[in-house]
Amino acid sequence: RASVKKITTGSQALDGLLGGGIETRTMTELFGEFGSGKTQICHQVSVNVQLPPERGGLSGKALYIDTEGTFRTERIKAMASALGLEPKEVLQNIMSIRAINTDHQIAIVEELQDIIAKDNSIKLVVVDSITSHFRAEYSGRENLAVRQQKLNRHLHQLVRLAEIYDLAVIVTNQVMARPDMFYGDPTVAVGGHTLYHVPGIRVQIKKSRGNRRIARMVDAPHLPEGEVVFSITNTGIRD
Ligand code: ATP
Ligand code: MG
Repeated sequence: RASVKKITTGSQALDGLLGGGIETRTMTELFGEFGSGKTQICHQVSVNVQLPPERGGLSGKALYIDTEGTFRTERIKAMASALGLEPKEVLQNIMSIRAINTDHQIAIVEELQDIIAKDNSIKLVVVDSITSHFRAEYSGRENLAVRQQKLNRHLHQLVRLAEIYDLAVIVTNQVMARPDMFYGDPTVAVGGHTLYHVPGIRVQIKKSRGNRRIARMVDAPHLPEGEVVFSITNTGIRD
């Protein structure tokens, strides 16, 4: 694991929970309810991956697969400015692709192999959200098996990209909050399952007071379980 690299999230507390930041060669699942901050973290890490290593980045580019139409160039620019980076340049280094349905989403990831093979400066792939199209198109119990099968294959392709090209993959997964979630089995939540069957790191994000958020590490193979608090501010993710 010595060759694994880390990308800062902008919060020391969240980085600490992650063992230093978002890891390359791994898929990180951010799951949580609406408005918990999954998309905000994806935006922030897409900016931060461009920072030089001494500032917690990988001097790399990001590829952002947007399935919900929530990618915001203005938000990227604000986050970039706050770090003293040139907003236009930062934006150019994030290739955002809108995926309109599951087949499109799957096709994009299949094509990534070629894109990344040609451009080894890509160090982050985001899929925000990994599950929304799948849930919409394969709703109902009778479709569950085929949905899981398709989603599994898609997820394993992403994991392979991370491993082969030494890049970080972040996927988001909206999972509705349940009062007993922190005490019961967190991998089985109302509104959907986390991606427990795929190798990687799972982090639950939960709303707290105001702009505060709680991040919780769930069944990580090599990281201690725990909870930290971070904030979503005008300038981005912070302690
Ligand atoms: P969903 O599951 O609906 O996609 P999400 O987990 O992706 O939700 P985000 O969109 O990341 O949630 O978070 C939205 C929240 O982020 C807002 O409710 C707000 O609290 C915070 N936020 C967004 N933009 C800003 C900003 N410019 N300044 C401060 N806070 C912001
Ligand atoms: Mg979102």
